[in-house]
Amino acid sequence: MSGFRYVSYAQEVVFASGALARLGEAVERFGWQRLILCTSHSLQENGCVDRVKSDLGDRLAAVFDRVQPHVQDVQVEEMLALAMELEIEAVIGLGGGSPIGMAKAVASALEEKRTGRPARAASPNDQPLVPVIAIPTTYAGSEMTAVYGITHTRENPPRKVTVNDPKIAPKLVIYDPELTLHLPPELTAATGINALAHCIEALYSITRHPASTAAAIWGVHHINDGLLASFQNGQNLEARTEMFAGAHLAGLSLASVAMGLHHGLCHVLGGTANVAHGIANSIILPHAIRFNADVTATQLLPAVEAMGISIGDMTPVMAVEALAQQIAGLVHEMKLPGRLRDAGIALKESDLPRLAKLAFQNRTVQNNPKPIAEPAQIEALLRAAW
Ligand code: NAD
Repeated sequence: MSGFRYVSYAQEVVFASGALARLGEAVERFGWQRLILCTSHSLQENGCVDRVKSDLGDRLAAVFDRVQPHVQDVQVEEMLALAMELEIEAVIGLGGGSPIGMAKAVASALEEKRTGRPARAASPNDQPLVPVIAIPTTYAGSEMTAVYGITHTRENPPRKVTVNDPKIAPKLVIYDPELTLHLPPELTAATGINALAHCIEALYSITRHPASTAAAIWGVHHINDGLLASFQNGQNLEARTEMFAGAHLAGLSLASVAMGLHHGLCHVLGGTANVAHGIANSIILPHAIRFNADVTATQLLPAVEAMGISIGDMTPVMAVEALAQQIAGLVHEMKLPGRLRDAGIALKESDLPRLAKLAFQNRTVQNNPKPIAEPAQIEALLRAAW
């Protein structure tokens, strides 16, 4: 094994059925007085927001419940103005990766506005002026990371930019599997595959280390045990708990390593072609696994086993092909689109060369373990996924 380097973050993580009821006590302990909540409409409708309100009482100064996918710059500006006016001390993101990403973007912008200086941490120990609290309700994993994407909507085409900053890793993360009981089957499936993709790309990451590998392998085990059962019966709390534990480990592995082609490509598809993140993941993952197989097959063998595939006499490349097929089968069984043309978006086959060129410039794509020398390689993958 060669050496390794990674950054981990000071975070309190609470994982339990019913854990949302512990939010007030934790906020009290941290000493935060004025909070703002960002979330999406469905969490308002299913009563989650009311539970946060009753737990926090007067400390919750405002609720912004219109978060759109992929963190839109115009919405961040809107929330920032509100947060400035209300003298907010901490920002809560309740929901999937979008509200949690929004909470990170707003907290960072608020610090910059108050101090008049860039908020970026100079060292991993720098603490934020405005901390983030994350209460995930999907399996996307943003709650564990010091990263968010923001979409610059005024550019043509709109462009999603990734920001890395140790300060924006949520300080308090509350996982309550009960909050996922109403996550619809399609979102269960799509964000579940997103979590699986984090584990896969962590396993072959160019910056992988023993802790990220351990988290990723156990993440795949939990996901394999919980995902299909959660899709088939959303009210199955045991399966939901298993799946959430997998999503947590996936997020933990994602947080400390560089992702590769799969992740970068999904960001380009999301920011530019507005493909929902989980759907992009479901379509691209088997193709990204195949693309990388000749370079990364050995690293993926633990995932093959964790998915219950018997390796027997198979070569590593054959075993990884079996993994790609099993994931494509799972995507199909969970009724997710398996091809870009079926993703329900205004994307044409003639757009693929342009997307491939954009993806080629993407930093995450360039961190792929198998070097990518020209956009044509990405275009070929996109055509296979078309
Ligand atoms: P999302 O946050 O966009 O939510 C998708 C939909 O799910 C929304 O309509 C929301 O209202 C609904 N929803 C969420 N929880 C629900 C629940 N419990 N019950 C019913 N409906 C619910 O989707 P996502 O896939 O969670 O996140 C995707 C975004 O997060 C993308 O922008 C992606 O780039 C980002 N992301 C970031 C990281 C990171 O580390 N920063 C990691 C993963 C994803």
